[in-house]
Amino acid sequence: MQLAFDADVEAFRAEFVAFLDEHLPDEAATVQRSHSSSDVPIWARRWQRLLFDHGWLLPGNPPEFGGRNATVLQQYVHAEELSRRRIYQSFNPQGVGIIAASILSFGTSEQKQRWAVPILRAEMTASLGMSEPGAGSDLASLRTRAVPGSDSQGDHFVVDGQKVWTSGAHDADVLLTFVRTDPDAPKHKGISVLLIPTDSPGVTRRAFASASDREDLDFNEVFFTDVRVPVENLVGPLNQGWRVATGSLGHERTMLWMGYADQLQELTADFRPSGALERDLYATLGMESEALRLLGSVALARAARGEEDVPSLSVLKLLGSEAVQTATGHVLSAAGTDGLVHPATTGPYAPLNLDSHYGSWFDRYFRSFAATIAGGTSEIQRNIIAGRILGLPRI
Ligand SMILES: Cc1cc2nc3c(=O)[nH]c(=O)nc-3n(C[C@H](O)[C@H](O)[C@H](O)COP(=O)(O)OP(=O)(O)OC[C@H]3O[C@@H](n4cnc5c(N)ncnc54)[C@H](O)[C@@H]3O)c2cc1C
Repeated sequence: MQLAFDADVEAFRAEFVAFLDEHLPDEAATVQRSHSSSDVPIWARRWQRLLFDHGWLLPGNPPEFGGRNATVLQQYVHAEELSRRRIYQSFNPQGVGIIAASILSFGTSEQKQRWAVPILRAEMTASLGMSEPGAGSDLASLRTRAVPGSDSQGDHFVVDGQKVWTSGAHDADVLLTFVRTDPDAPKHKGISVLLIPTDSPGVTRRAFASASDREDLDFNEVFFTDVRVPVENLVGPLNQGWRVATGSLGHERTMLWMGYADQLQELTADFRPSGALERDLYATLGMESEALRLLGSVALARAARGEEDVPSLSVLKLLGSEAVQTATGHVLSAAGTDGLVHPATTGPYAPLNLDSHYGSWFDRYFRSFAATIAGGTSEIQRNIIAGRILGLPRI
């Protein structure tokens, strides 16, 4: 068993560390804070652009898309160095991690230049329009429809319907929107994907507060009324949007466990247990953190060998998101009424990270629920594990 990285991977790490030491913005430059997942302050745009230009934004990408064709293990140490310093590459994570990635996988070369590159260079921000009031876990039930039209200005779609939970939509320039284009086909087969600029006539965005904080405006309802979308904004083939959907979620899930492992590690650092019971809970936190890293390392080794094992990512997502939730719950109980003090600082200030990750313990506990819902709920992950890993029969 090899528990250390090869010399080439460590050399890659050293090069990135030298880059960070030289270029990281200092605290005074980062005063302006991000208010939503598509609100990227000027300094954060410059930072993302710098990473893009040096091939450090998404190192697995080719240089023209902000990378340097890095191997899976090199990508891992890159993520490790960022998380160790509590640094984000981008304050528009779904734009960079899901939407640009989907366009690079499924889009035309024109779409890559017109949309993906500006998103990666932080010249544009993007949000993800999948969920609807009647289509969340069962995304294939979505009803927002796009009907082909044509007039003197050319071919286009006309879009009508509603999305919900669209994180950051009120600050985004464009929405990757899943729409029904063939109402007569079986539900997975009549879906397509459109890039819809948010300034298109007929698009209305209504931000609404999260349960954890009235000031936290990230979620949106988005309404489409007779919205005209040029045909060249269709991503992937007509009626084959389900492939893009599973690809998009794949992009989302592959990296997810690392985020939970980092949060567990941060909780380990921020939690100061006192007394036998709290030390016991602290030990549980340490064990779950280690278990996640070990299982994650197995998945990483498989990915490095080119083996795909999508269902096992469900194990990592489930373990990680629930361990973070359990741990923050324990820390909140241990803090007693002090845990409710808001605003409070429960971890070291990290200017290149979201403030909520070191807010009050109550805030951190409340926000931990999001991870057990977004990207596929815990129940859906359990269904995947039951059916595709354990081979249990459906009831
Ligand atoms: C922080 C956050 C950010 C989000 N950002 C976005 C975004 O940017 N864009 C976007 O499109 N969406 C976004 N979402 C929405 C997210 O994708 C949905 O909330 C999620 O898919 C669940 O759908 P739902 O809320 O409609 O719940 P439902 O699907 O209605 O589920 C309700 C409950 O029933 C359970 N359930 C449903 N089906 C089954 C089943 N078959 N077996 C067992 N139990 C089941 C669920 O687990 C859940 O507990 C976000 C959500 C969160 C929490």
